[in-house]
Amino acid sequence: MSPVPGSGLAKGLAVTLRTMTRKTVTEQYPDTQPDLPPRTRGVIGLFEENCTVCMLCARECPDWCIYIDSHKETVPAAAPGGRERSRNVLDRFAIDFSLCMYCGICIEVCPFDALFWSPEFEYAETDIRDLTHERDKLREWMWTVPAPPALDPGAEEPKELAAARKTADKLAAQQQAEQAAQAEQTAPAEPKEGES
Ligand code: SF4
Ligand code: SF4
Repeated sequence: MSPVPGSGLAKGLAVTLRTMTRKTVTEQYPDTQPDLPPRTRGVIGLFEENCTVCMLCARECPDWCIYIDSHKETVPAAAPGGRERSRNVLDRFAIDFSLCMYCGICIEVCPFDALFWSPEFEYAETDIRDLTHERDKLREWMWTVPAPPALDPGAEEPKELAAARKTADKLAAQQQAEQAAQAEQTAPAEPKEGES
């Protein structure tokens, strides 16, 4: 059966009318920035002060796209007669984002909270080699990482905070005791009974 002449046009107009009344979903990027959720997996930021060069992230990365170089440094003994210690010093930390699949394993396994997700996503390059980013750039991205969400009011206090609070309380008590002892030593002696 041949189609009714003009039915195609009518169908097309019906679709146009239907979609005209719907809310638009087109993002006008880059004129308008997208409203991304705060925990968006945009790029990985490095807080290198926390990195101990344990290599766990590089070993666990399924794509082998984390490159770390380091050297050892000798730290003098803390007390006379003590032993010298050695520590790792970070020389290079780079991530090749042309290989990274944004699985987040490196961030999950880091035992020292040195890696974080940043929602930053505007780092496209025309040359794939430019997608390997070094520690300075990863550090810059660190400052775009949003603050962690507030703790549930009923949640148990994190053990790190509890330990830090205990140490601070102990130090404050020690200081108070020292100040009280000093005040006692410097206070003028009270005259004994019978003395004038
Ligand atoms: S997000 Fe996954 S693939 Fe990307 S660097 Fe981390 S572990 Fe590797
Ligand atoms: S797992 Fe964390 S501490 Fe270890 S090398 Fe990677 S970023 Fe540094």
